[in-house]
Amino acid sequence: MSENKKAEKIVGIKGMNDLLPLDAHLWELFENTAQSVVQSYGFQQIRTPIVEETRLFARAIGAVTDIVEKEMYSFTDSMNGDQLTLRPEGTAGVVRSVLEHNLVYNGPMRMWYKGPMFRHEKPQRGRYRQFHQFGCEAVGFTGPDVDAEMIMMCRRLWDDLGLDKIRLELNSIGDAAERAAHRVELIKYFEANIDVLDEEAKRRLHANPLRILDTKNPAMQDLVNNAPKLMAYLGEASLAHFEGVQKILKANNIPFTINTRLVRGLDYYNRTVFEWVTDELGAQGTVCAGGRYDPLIESFGGKPTPAVGFAMGIERLIELMKANGEPAAANQCDVYLVHQGEAAQMQAFILGERLRDAGLDVVMHCAALTGAGSFKSQMKKADGSGASFAVIIGEDEVTNNTAAVKAMRAQEGEQQQATVAFDDVVDYIVDQIADGGEEHHHFHVHDENCKH
Ligand code: ATP
Ligand code: MG
Repeated sequence: MSENKKAEKIVGIKGMNDLLPLDAHLWELFENTAQSVVQSYGFQQIRTPIVEETRLFARAIGAVTDIVEKEMYSFTDSMNGDQLTLRPEGTAGVVRSVLEHNLVYNGPMRMWYKGPMFRHEKPQRGRYRQFHQFGCEAVGFTGPDVDAEMIMMCRRLWDDLGLDKIRLELNSIGDAAERAAHRVELIKYFEANIDVLDEEAKRRLHANPLRILDTKNPAMQDLVNNAPKLMAYLGEASLAHFEGVQKILKANNIPFTINTRLVRGLDYYNRTVFEWVTDELGAQGTVCAGGRYDPLIESFGGKPTPAVGFAMGIERLIELMKANGEPAAANQCDVYLVHQGEAAQMQAFILGERLRDAGLDVVMHCAALTGAGSFKSQMKKADGSGASFAVIIGEDEVTNNTAAVKAMRAQEGEQQQATVAFDDVVDYIVDQIADGGEEHHHFHVHDENCKH
């Protein structure tokens, strides 16, 4: 590199975002809440690789879909020539894994997953090239009970997150034979209105006409609204299943609307399909989408195994949480350690470890590019950290073997600062937190998942 040429900056890939520390609290809150909700229904985690064979997705999702036609990040493994793809969604990998490991041999399984998905889309608000989904799959259940259970689980999650502006849309797309009968009429109808179809719809007319109902093209809305309804072609069993789902939802006070145009983008769905939609996010308002996919596993060579699942778009839900007033930055710690001089720093190290032994989150002030900083600037940092307590150790404290404990969030009339014997600091702070009750809600003992 020449000396007077500045090093060129390398930036991230378009449509693939960094999760910055400022937002981390929201992601943790979402993920922890989602995990604990689905675990309370008996769902267990499954993690599958991000890369799978391309043909897995082509088969599971369907050739004539947005994803497979134009959105997959596919590449040839330069080591051995394998055709591989970065997963665009989670169901295909879970189904592969279920079959590969014979997971439902001993009966049905409830599973959840989370992680990044990749689609080559035009980046815009709520639509990214790397995005994240939290999803569930219940494999081996015929329903309609488990369909309703999944929907109720979502509802519980929205409630736990305090999100009330999400509504449920529900539909049934029947089975393959019912769709075939409807399809004949649908193609006739679209052919009679061929002038109104856009290029994409024309292309799909004979391959996947149902998907035309899913169009977002404003010029085609009247046309699709008046198209023959699949609902009219459903047979007794499909209707009974659909009724069954609705009955359970009604009994549990879960409001929904039936949207007969809801078909879902993926080919392998049947019967129940649903979406959770909000008006708070502009055009990309679907925060969760799911449905039944009874034929999929058999089509992969497994025994007939009914299944139902959903996936949530985490980015969209985080944005909704922000719009709902969820504060972006959480408290960094319970205690911030302020010190001056080498001896005080040594004491601070010892105290920090003792406080952490007691289950507290502790940030110790450390030298930055600007130096360690004055007491005043350290106290500013302590304040900014959101800590409930600052512990201050200076030369006097070292000499007297004490520490000054300052309650950062003390109410009026409460004691602000106390000098405490060094060996008593941990007990003193733990007692204060116990007395303070509600006010010091950032205190928590480290039990894996409840961190926010
Ligand atoms: P759309 O019709 O909006 O493209 P889709 O049918 O492709 O949606 P699904 O495959 O059902 O979406 O994905 C489930 C959820 O994942 C969506 O409802 C959305 O919340 C989220 N999602 C899908 N694609 C993206 C993306 N590119 N960026 C961010 N979130 C996404
Ligand atoms: Mg899409």
